[in-house]
Amino acid sequence: MKKSNKKVISIVAVILCAAIVIGLVSYDFVKSSLSVESTDIAMGTVISFSIKGKDAQAATDEIKEFIIGLENSCLSWRVEESDVWRINYGAGTDVSVSTETASWIGRALDISADSEGAFDITVGKLTRLWNIGSGEEVLPDKETISTLLDDVGYKKVFISDTSVKIENCQAIDLGAIGKGVACDVAKDLLDDYSIKEAIISVGGSILVYNQKASVGIADPSNSQKHMATIEVDNQCVSTSGDYERFFEADGKKYHHILDPETGYPAITDLRSVTVICDSGLDADALSTACFVMGYRKSLELLNKYDAEAVFVFDNNTVSVTDGIKDSFKLTSDNYTVE
Ligand code: AMP
Ligand code: MG
Repeated sequence: MKKSNKKVISIVAVILCAAIVIGLVSYDFVKSSLSVESTDIAMGTVISFSIKGKDAQAATDEIKEFIIGLENSCLSWRVEESDVWRINYGAGTDVSVSTETASWIGRALDISADSEGAFDITVGKLTRLWNIGSGEEVLPDKETISTLLDDVGYKKVFISDTSVKIENCQAIDLGAIGKGVACDVAKDLLDDYSIKEAIISVGGSILVYNQKASVGIADPSNSQKHMATIEVDNQCVSTSGDYERFFEADGKKYHHILDPETGYPAITDLRSVTVICDSGLDADALSTACFVMGYRKSLELLNKYDAEAVFVFDNNTVSVTDGIKDSFKLTSDNYTVE
């Protein structure tokens, strides 16, 4: 072969190799900047995903399926044969559940103890009696409430390894932690994929994964709008508020967060509590607990769990814990910061 032909062939080979390398790199670049935005219904609420990275689509699909499975096999008291359904159905006996369900219930019991019972998953019979959010609410009578109140008590729940036992007349309801648990499960699944960053919201609970994001806090007087934002860095956020589910009877408003001491919706000067911390379960449980406990008592509890919070009061003032003062911004003129 002539020397000049050899030279042409080697130049062409170099160009081809370069093209392949550039092709692979840009394919990888395109995939890593892939972004999936999607919204669905699960756990009786809206779940939305914003996931960026190579595996965004696969991660979105798996997390969606996992959250639906989580509700059906573990958390729902309505779905026959779920762990919670079996615990309630087998009240008075040891019921074998998944390791995860046992550990979530264990964590819920810790938060019950630390909140001195303001948070209590054994309100199951009462939440069913009130049935708030069903659209078929009827104001229960005092006697029925007081009878069911006798069976409320987190201290009567026992866990040994992966079996859970509640007292005969009790029923548990994990409605106050389910959405936070879904965020934690989503986080573990994202870790298994090649994901750059993500925001996943499950009802009032939000996971900010591997990024900083500005998260809006709903205006309790108009929940379609935000009244403030907080900067969240790789943490979970959860809001509990009296505007989320409620009904009106005899000119009075009855919301869905019960005071385990009275059996009635918690009486408070709060409209909502938003909690920010590393764990979705903790954020969800603490927001419910703080709503029942009120501002002052909540501060110690939040401290113990290394959590920050935003309290919105019914006189349109807002209190923010020290750790997030700089990242909190009011966006509505109707509120003032205390
Ligand atoms: P959340 O919206 O996270 O505050 O949770 C409220 C839901 O948790 C209610 O719809 C009930 O199913 C349940 N719940 C109500 N009051 C309590 C309470 N004091 N402790 C634990 N769970 C509760
Ligand atoms: Mg909650």
